[in-house]
Amino acid sequence: MRRRIRQGTRFAVVRRYTPAFDFLEGARGLKILDLIAERLPEKYELHDRYLNGQLVRLLKTIGYDVAYTEARGPYLFDGQGNRYLDLLSGWGVFALGRNHPKLVSVLSEVLHGGLPHLIQMDVTILAGLLAERLVAKMPPGLEKIFFCNSGTESVEAAMKFARYATKRSKIVYVERGYHGLSLGSLSINGMDEFRDGFGPLLPDCVRIPFDDLAALENALSGDDVAAFVVEPIVGHSVSIPHDDYLPGAAALCKRYGALLVCDEVQTGLGRTGKFLAVEHWGVEPDMVCMAKALSGGFVPVGAVACRRWVFDAVYDRLDRAVVHGSTYSKNNLAMAAALATLEVIDEEGLVENAATVGSQIVEDLRPLVDEFEFVKDVRGKGMMIGIEFHRPESLRLRAAWKLLEAANDGLFGQLITIPLFTKHRILSQLAGQHVHVVKYLPPLGITQEDREWIVSATRAVIADAHHVGGAIWNLGKQLAGATIRMKTGG
Ligand code: PMP
Repeated sequence: MRRRIRQGTRFAVVRRYTPAFDFLEGARGLKILDLIAERLPEKYELHDRYLNGQLVRLLKTIGYDVAYTEARGPYLFDGQGNRYLDLLSGWGVFALGRNHPKLVSVLSEVLHGGLPHLIQMDVTILAGLLAERLVAKMPPGLEKIFFCNSGTESVEAAMKFARYATKRSKIVYVERGYHGLSLGSLSINGMDEFRDGFGPLLPDCVRIPFDDLAALENALSGDDVAAFVVEPIVGHSVSIPHDDYLPGAAALCKRYGALLVCDEVQTGLGRTGKFLAVEHWGVEPDMVCMAKALSGGFVPVGAVACRRWVFDAVYDRLDRAVVHGSTYSKNNLAMAAALATLEVIDEEGLVENAATVGSQIVEDLRPLVDEFEFVKDVRGKGMMIGIEFHRPESLRLRAAWKLLEAANDGLFGQLITIPLFTKHRILSQLAGQHVHVVKYLPPLGITQEDREWIVSATRAVIADAHHVGGAIWNLGKQLAGATIRMKTGG
């Protein structure tokens, strides 16, 4: 058996792959672009009928129902040729911007290459090459890679690996942390609005406050915790920990025999001005979860970088060689897209640009804290930027704030994001429900011109919000009414 495998390997090495494929000749596609152009006006109707009608209702209520026809780099275009700056980046997947030519070219090369694909009882060169490139970018000690198809799957894998390797079951996680919505990752989701009604969730999951080492030590001190799972910067509030937090957490995990799992699904791949956010604090986790930007936004992908002993503990015998995995993981399209993504990040200096332009934007916006009552804080690392609002002191502004917040906790932020979109064509988001944080996740390569666009639009919208009685507050009243109607099913 062993000899046959060796012979097979040698054969693979000597045989040269010739893409002599004429299989595409005469092939007729679906004419998909014609189909899109023809049926585009029906998109909301189709979604309302066959998919998530509530999402359609939400988009229409807040005026985000735009028929985009094209996308390039950090910009989206509608049928009238209007250009929008996308600071949402598909929830962080478009670190390279949209439709990057290198990604398009690599993917079409794979599609046209007639490559053997998902053989399953074999391994692919592309997954091997990508793992090699990723390991080279990881902190010391992370020498093995597990591939999957999404962020939540990467977290599920990390949870399972931690349990199996440590022979312990408890997982510690933080308030308002987010790791995905499948049942395992939901069990360590620190936001009840996502959990309610889906229980019972996994037992042995312990929630602690973020940025609190005493709470972590307390949770770990029973010597029964498999892993502490944490985002280096909590995405749903853009909360940046004190400088001693993550190094302290790593030391505590080591002391109590728990694994430190850093969820870099959002913060990874250069987003915060380092390839991984943990590099800001010199932390060496036991596992790092990645997804989103890894495939340039084209193909679902996820990855866990892992210490060798953890990986080897899980895949410890021949009969356990497929004990965890999934059918489409390591597929050629995702692997090739990810290889190209890593190359573009290096070639275009995107990590450095994220650090420089990101910190310039934060510096430009910081004076708003002193100038405007509603603004509590401006913070960020690289291209992960949050503007936090709070209840103002002056009576008139406080009454306006209360009107919105009575309708829905966190609604004030929509008074910023909606006019940013409708008046200034900037697509952004609230960091999460029930928080007053507007979040910007721009593509990493945005320019000085984009920076000016962001800063001037943000300033204008915040200034408008301080004119109670102006157009923004009419929008506020409409929003409050619509929210109450939505909540009551009206
Ligand atoms: N972890 C973090 C930190 C995330 O931000 C997300 C997605 N927002 C996930 C996990 C889940 O990723 P996915 O949606 O690909 O499952």
